[in-house]
Amino acid sequence: LGGAVLALSMAACSGEGAGSGGNDSDKPADLTIGVSMPTQTSERWIADGNSVKEKLTAKGYQVDLQYAGDDIPTQSQQIDQMILRGADVLIIAAIDGTALSGQLQAAADAKIPVIAYDRLIRDSPNVDFYVSFDNYKVGVAQATALLVGLGVQNKDGSKGEAKGPFNIELFAGSLDDNNAHFFFKGAMDTLKPFIDEGTLKVKSGQTKIEQVATLRWQQETAQTRMEDLLTSSYNDKTKVDGVLSPYDGISRGIITALQNAGYRDDIPVVTGQDAEIASVKLINDGVQNSTIFKDTRLLAEQAVVAGEAFLQEKTPEANDTETYDNGVKVVPSYLLPVETVYKDDIQKILIDSGYYTAEEVAAGQ
Ligand code: BGC
Repeated sequence: LGGAVLALSMAACSGEGAGSGGNDSDKPADLTIGVSMPTQTSERWIADGNSVKEKLTAKGYQVDLQYAGDDIPTQSQQIDQMILRGADVLIIAAIDGTALSGQLQAAADAKIPVIAYDRLIRDSPNVDFYVSFDNYKVGVAQATALLVGLGVQNKDGSKGEAKGPFNIELFAGSLDDNNAHFFFKGAMDTLKPFIDEGTLKVKSGQTKIEQVATLRWQQETAQTRMEDLLTSSYNDKTKVDGVLSPYDGISRGIITALQNAGYRDDIPVVTGQDAEIASVKLINDGVQNSTIFKDTRLLAEQAVVAGEAFLQEKTPEANDTETYDNGVKVVPSYLLPVETVYKDDIQKILIDSGYYTAEEVAAGQ
């Protein structure tokens, strides 16, 4: 509702076309888009920031792009500054989805539309639009890759030959990131029947998101938890067969812990997300099982389309108006599809599409 009201009220006072009453404030060069990204420690956010900036700059807009080093006060301050410097639209990928209500109120007071980028911003009426991927389906795809990797299910969805029982462990993302809950829900809905029938066994007994979450999605935190799991639950010569991992950085932490504990050819099936180059190499080398590819170029494009719509006092086109309730309202969303990448898919999905070169995949960087 906020977005529609805002768009209407802006249209009402500006007359026809973009901008206000014939002065030159509607030229792209006079409009600034504030882009707030969470961190540069993960490649995907660097790619996201670069793509959004390039696409907006190519259209002549000014771009104020900031990274917050995964520090919540830094992100809040950066957004405060963007508002003070006169941003016309804000595109925000939040670190903590519940921590920006004050900034969003200030943006609303200044009539600045806010687009939540990839991660929903919660507990605020002042989120005008959401661009992301189908996050529940990401979780389903990760769990499906785990089932396929174990041989319990085939890629076409039919029943696989392997009977189990298999020992698995579960990892989730950061609890303050709305997406982490969608990924885990999609995954658990998919795995639960196999756990219930005894084909899969979570040996540690840790199946609740609070028990398996990874603060700020950190690789080291995941590595430490995997080491602890090996010590506490696999000190009786039993083996881990599979690990549900929600993000490639976490996957590499898990893999390091497993390798340090002596796993080699018997490395468990480990899933992932984001197609980070280091993980794509591990998949190519047969170490990591799979990843979920989210084409950040397409997400950046959608953010730009939505941002431009707001600048032209239009309402951006949504393809989902039901799923993303942020606690105050259902935020109109544009969701993109995702693709699972196993070793056999690297060429077609990642190289042929120009996302990586064959050399980058071989080098892992
Ligand atoms: C994104 C994932 C990413 C994770 C860690 C999530 O919000 O949707 O693509 O792996 O954050 O950066």
